[in-house]
Amino acid sequence: MELFAVFGNPISHSKSPILHNYTLYKLGIDARYTRYLLQSSENFRDLFFSLGLNGANITLPHKENIANICDEIRGIAQKIGAVNTIVRENDKIIGYNTDATGFYKNIENKNIQNALVLGAGGSARAIAMILREHNINVVIANRSKEKLVFFSDRCFKTYTNDDLKKIAKHNKFDIIINATSSSINNTLPLEYETLELLFKNSNIAFDLIYGKKCKFLELAKENDLESIDGSKMLLYQAISALSLFINTDEENIKPHMEYIYKIIQ
Ligand code: NDP
Repeated sequence: MELFAVFGNPISHSKSPILHNYTLYKLGIDARYTRYLLQSSENFRDLFFSLGLNGANITLPHKENIANICDEIRGIAQKIGAVNTIVRENDKIIGYNTDATGFYKNIENKNIQNALVLGAGGSARAIAMILREHNINVVIANRSKEKLVFFSDRCFKTYTNDDLKKIAKHNKFDIIINATSSSINNTLPLEYETLELLFKNSNIAFDLIYGKKCKFLELAKENDLESIDGSKMLLYQAISALSLFINTDEENIKPHMEYIYKIIQ
């Protein structure tokens, strides 16, 4: 039997075991997917092998640390420096990032040339990199300066939230993406007035949060923007992860995972 798991802290809310176990069952694969509360990523490598896992998903706050213990990182995860999916190949751990593609699938058919990403953590990195791969201009804004260095080092235009306030009126972004954790507590990632100015010149608002009331998207709707939450991103990243775990085409996985996802929404 193959074994998979999701590691994070907190983890009890994770819907990944339901999504993966149902889909594995429907595909007739002898495998189980469970979840582990991971307090510290120290000794993770030993833990992963001692549990006999074939693959795992990694979530908050370990994505960057686990990238550092991978034997090899493939695809866009190399640029992001964070992994959300790892696969065992013999005695090696291979890291991937399916958050980036999971996000992009939400917007691939939309006309977007300029994007503003709010936040500078792991998910902001994934989003900025995948947007750049598709030739979309990306500006990053964050509450504090420290995490902006990753982006300025890679030639992204960056602002602190205070500086963004000064330029908000004169800039047009086709999409504004809230990749901060602000919506976990249903607070806005920026001052109300600044957000209103930005929304006046924009078409789409995206918040990575799912399954929760969200002030950011409510304000976007009041300003007649198309509003997208993170639920499909979660679904699409899981489809891509399972495809890597069991080496199966995403199209075979999609109908089963979409079905169970709708049921548990
Ligand atoms: P990180 O902890 O790596 O980064 C959080 C970022 O949010 C930092 O830039 C931080 O700023 C900023 N921030 C936190 N609180 C506030 C606030 N109140 N106001 C303004 N800025 C704030 O988190 P991740 O990037 O990994 O995740 C961000 C969010 O995205 C989480 O809520 C997570 O659950 C969600 N997510 C959803 C996914 C999905 O599939 N839908 C996938 C991945 C993530 P500072 O640097 O100043 O501390």
